[in-house]
Amino acid sequence: MKEKFQRFMIGRYGVDELGKYSLYLTIVLLILGLFVRSRFLNGVTFLIVLLLYFRMFSKNYAQRRKENDLFLKYKNQVVRFFNKEKRMMQDRVKFHIYTCPSCGQKIRIPRGKGKIAITCPKCKNEFIKKS
Ligand SMILES: [Zn+2]
Repeated sequence: MKEKFQRFMIGRYGVDELGKYSLYLTIVLLILGLFVRSRFLNGVTFLIVLLLYFRMFSKNYAQRRKENDLFLKYKNQVVRFFNKEKRMMQDRVKFHIYTCPSCGQKIRIPRGKGKIAITCPKCKNEFIKKS
């Protein structure tokens, strides 16, 4: 049985990053489907499973790789966005973010330094703020 399967899988694309994530998505949708009885949700889940199998057994490597690259591109954008948001949240604890009144440049100033003169790195405008 295992040999038969291995022979069957020769030359086939298998699971890539996109495949892995669609598998996670199906698991989430299946669990969600236990609580929300929706034909639409079941349909979507079924379609994703179908697509997952289609891609796994596909012999068109070039096309599948292209799909995976596209997926990774968007996934990385989303990951980068959330990392940036996270960093900004952490920064807000230690830093004060001021906006330069003349050019709108955002300036990060450490908190707890009292009243200080801030020089904008972009337009050299000086203004006084409490940090
Ligand atoms: Zn400025």
